[in-house]
Amino acid sequence: MENQFKRKYKEDLPVLAICYDFDKTLSPNDMQAQGFIQDVGYDIGKFWKDSNKVSRENEMDSNLAYMFKMVEEAQGNFIVSKKTLADYGSKVELFKGVETWFKRIKEYGAQNGVIVEHYIISSGIKEMIEGTTMAKNNEFEKIFASSFYFNERGVAKWPAQAVNYTNKTQFLFRISKGVLDVNDQSVNQFFSQDEIRVPFRNIAYIGDSDTDIPCMKLVNTNGGHAIGVYNPNTEDTSKVFRMIKENRIRYFTPADYSEGTQIDKLIKAIILKTKVDEVLEDKHINDTKLANQNTKY
Ligand SMILES: [Mg+2]
Repeated sequence: MENQFKRKYKEDLPVLAICYDFDKTLSPNDMQAQGFIQDVGYDIGKFWKDSNKVSRENEMDSNLAYMFKMVEEAQGNFIVSKKTLADYGSKVELFKGVETWFKRIKEYGAQNGVIVEHYIISSGIKEMIEGTTMAKNNEFEKIFASSFYFNERGVAKWPAQAVNYTNKTQFLFRISKGVLDVNDQSVNQFFSQDEIRVPFRNIAYIGDSDTDIPCMKLVNTNGGHAIGVYNPNTEDTSKVFRMIKENRIRYFTPADYSEGTQIDKLIKAIILKTKVDEVLEDKHINDTKLANQNTKY
């Protein structure tokens, strides 16, 4: 049967996939706590406490629990539709430089012969992230996040996807193989080294906390670039210090994405490394092929 899903295949130029967590990585706070929770009449701390209680008492995934609470508590207040969620998303505060970062970094890649792609891998709500200016400007290659199923009247009825810390890693394999559709099971097929579109050494993962650890560890142990960020206003470096000591991340920087900042310089260095690595890797693959063609043992 022909594969019904669209796939990405290897191009002539190397691809650097930069993957981002959202809450506290691109935005200083949880996206739900920037309007939605307040508008359903809840205190933020109490909302998370109650949602964690639902999760604990029912052995429910904590993301499914908060999604349940969102829908439940909105009843009688407002309709949870794609539009309402996108409107809340459009008001989410972003760290300095975030709004222009994606375009700038793509351009720097293009100037240096590297295709830069930006992917969101978040336990937050996809429909909210879609409301950000970056999403509206198509800066993201794909947004992998928790999302709702909306009925024919456009009302959120059921979770469509719930992205938690361990199933976040699935998306790194999808990106690596170019199998981006969440229902495409060929992500489990074997791909030879030269068919892999984005080898792990060409993946950068940027996150802030424990929920990013499985992704960071996977990227880090496979030669990629796991980066921890911390809030530049609070300057609380406790998490990134711990993560680097435990070998979860290779680097950390403040979450200020303006031109000339630490993360700007770091990603640009990674782009240049990607370009040089590719030249060496191509030569290695060609030399191995040549030897295999000309020897019998
Ligand atoms: Mg986070």
